[in-house]
Amino acid sequence: MVKEVKVKSILNKHKKRDDWFLDDYSVNPYYGCSFNCIYCYIKGSKYGSAELAAKINAPEILDRQLRHRAKKKEYGIIALSSSTEPYMHVERKFELTRMILQKILKYRFPVEIATKSKLVLRDLDVLEKIDGAAILPADLQRLGRGVIISFSISTLDKGLAKILEPGAPSPKDRLETMMKCKQEGLLVGVNYIPVLPFLSDSEENLDEMIKTAKDYGADYVLVGSLTLFGDKTNDCKTLYYKFLEEYFPELVPKYKSLFRNSFAPPKHYQARLAEISERLCKKHGIRNRIA
Ligand code: SF4
Repeated sequence: MVKEVKVKSILNKHKKRDDWFLDDYSVNPYYGCSFNCIYCYIKGSKYGSAELAAKINAPEILDRQLRHRAKKKEYGIIALSSSTEPYMHVERKFELTRMILQKILKYRFPVEIATKSKLVLRDLDVLEKIDGAAILPADLQRLGRGVIISFSISTLDKGLAKILEPGAPSPKDRLETMMKCKQEGLLVGVNYIPVLPFLSDSEENLDEMIKTAKDYGADYVLVGSLTLFGDKTNDCKTLYYKFLEEYFPELVPKYKSLFRNSFAPPKHYQARLAEISERLCKKHGIRNRIA
């Protein structure tokens, strides 16, 4: 039984546009996520709540908030979603994501979907309309599109993904879903975020991952590192170390040395990841940014 809650506000305006995903706003139809990825940053960070709940009045509240923004011509890309999965199983029942997309279409805002689910295919009819109708902010006209769909993948290894992302569709299912969206003419890409230190972040891993994204029709690939938050039982840092101890105990000291007291790997690790992914994207003829 999923908890149903009412919210006072649903549209979050960012202080600054996100450099990677280009969004100025975000909307999260649900609290928590049933895909239960071990590394999920909403468990333990300030960005989310782990308990699953449906924001049942989200479409109605969004209508009011978007009307207000549209009146002032404050157009910007809306990220759907930043701290939940917009197409988890309960969306079949609640259809909040679909109703939210209809509001986004009504007020002609552009949208960036981040998902691991093939349920996004249900909404291709609305997404195609948004793609043609959306009004982009003046400095993002070069994008020329109203819809961006990103598929999140951390590893192409089916067995490893099953352990790390127990409720999510397999990486292959995600890639096949992406291909179908591409065939419908939408702008699509893969977010290899987070790649996992010593498990899916080697040059060889990234080469295969970027080539695979290209083979399945991705227009772009983004690569980002793992973050580990919190010390409570269900926080992602605790869960991730439990996973390592069970399946890869030899990696525990390596992770401890890489993360030290931080929630993220150090700058030199991030710089190496950026350098390798830029080079491999060039090699495979694919963008390492959305636009
Ligand atoms: S699908 Fe996304 S939001 Fe859901 S648990 Fe996984 S990482 Fe978190």
